[in-house]
Amino acid sequence: MAVKVAFMQLSDCWGCHQSLLNAHLGLLPVLPALEIVYWPAVVDFKHDSLKAREDGSILVGFIEGAIRTKEDYENVKLMRQKCALIIAFGSCSCYGNVAGLANQWDIEECIKRKFMEVESATDQTIPTQHVPPFQDKIVNVDEVINVDVYMAGCPPKTEQIISSVVFLLGQKPFPMNDLAFCNDCAIKDSCLLDAGTLCFGPITSIGCSLKCTSDRKPCVGCFGPAKTVDSRAEKLNNMTKNLGSISSGDKKNLYEFLTLFLNIPLMAGFDLAGDILKQIKKRGAPETPLANMPPTTTEISGSLMSFLRDNPEFTEISNVCDTCPRIIGSKSTMTRVKRDYEGLPNMDDCLIEQGYICMGPVTRAGCGGLCIKVNTPCSGCYGQTEWGVNQAERFADTVLKGFNVSLSKQELLAQVKDPIGTFEKFTLASRKGGV
Ligand code: SF4
Ligand code: SF4
Ligand code: SF4
Repeated sequence: MAVKVAFMQLSDCWGCHQSLLNAHLGLLPVLPALEIVYWPAVVDFKHDSLKAREDGSILVGFIEGAIRTKEDYENVKLMRQKCALIIAFGSCSCYGNVAGLANQWDIEECIKRKFMEVESATDQTIPTQHVPPFQDKIVNVDEVINVDVYMAGCPPKTEQIISSVVFLLGQKPFPMNDLAFCNDCAIKDSCLLDAGTLCFGPITSIGCSLKCTSDRKPCVGCFGPAKTVDSRAEKLNNMTKNLGSISSGDKKNLYEFLTLFLNIPLMAGFDLAGDILKQIKKRGAPETPLANMPPTTTEISGSLMSFLRDNPEFTEISNVCDTCPRIIGSKSTMTRVKRDYEGLPNMDDCLIEQGYICMGPVTRAGCGGLCIKVNTPCSGCYGQTEWGVNQAERFADTVLKGFNVSLSKQELLAQVKDPIGTFEKFTLASRKGGV
């Protein structure tokens, strides 16, 4: 049965949808599994048709954009009512994005600036027709409704969107054989679980010929879930409830398991709020391979995912620098702060060390260093790696500790022309306690 999906567009630029459409043929394996019931940006379904649907009858709702108007506010609530899972799609929806910078001013000032004062305003009048009333401030989507998945990026990378959708729909072509791998394991009598090693054989489908356990390496689940679990699953389940002290080898296996077994593409770029597997089941969503997993398998996968959420240090790739090919500790040193348009940086040395404000060290990974690869500093669109702190100070402390910078903290910060627009360009609206 095809899975019902809806796309909502709030106040935004449509770039996230463009990123999705950029998949072109990459969409083909996914589309047959979808029944797109609402997608005004592309297929002009009428709003009333969304309203008329039964509550909770749509499995996945993508929300793109920020809440700027009263209409946005109502649409967000409508989506929550109709969809089992809500994905905040793009940084506007996750954090308010660039539009959130307007929260520094009253709405009256913003309206005056936009319609009367800005150089491109031709007739200097404030429109009264076909414009929905504005909210006083941009509010984050998750301040209005519960969000299940955050997919940041301005826009999120195409591959990230596709792999996330594939994961959510459970469309990986798992064989889902009846029996678990343990039945085929050559070392059953000296089981790795008994030796305290995380081995996912009890819940993984039989059928592989590699048989990692023959080399006493644990099964990491690449054949996906089995229809039934082996009796050792209970032991595995107990081990996953106490993951705080697992060995570094087990940590690595755990990542591999989540990637191979659940097809979670990139933990750092795809936040699951709450236990997504349980939510799929609880909300009576249509049948998907994930929803069909045996209860013990769901429980084990759920506790692994919540453990990773609560222990972000497990995320091997954590910030943009981790995916950047440039040298930190290069032959260059920041002696003054340069604006992006000044000079032409070389392609080898870290941009900070060449004098530019690059937000890489304090920005969540996920994009693969898109901007840096085209010689442009990261401006932070995937969101911060730490919240609830003074972002300017955090940036300065971070770079003074780990990069060639010959400025004091005060000198560095004093030379940044627009601190809020630099350090919270994409996230100001999600700053707690107001601007
Ligand atoms: S996140 Fe970026 S690309 Fe997506 S709608 Fe917002 S501004 Fe546009
Ligand atoms: S600060 Fe920017 S240029 Fe330097 S390593 Fe990090 S991402 Fe790369
Ligand atoms: S390098 Fe920074 S600004 Fe550019 S896409 Fe990645 S996170 Fe966004």
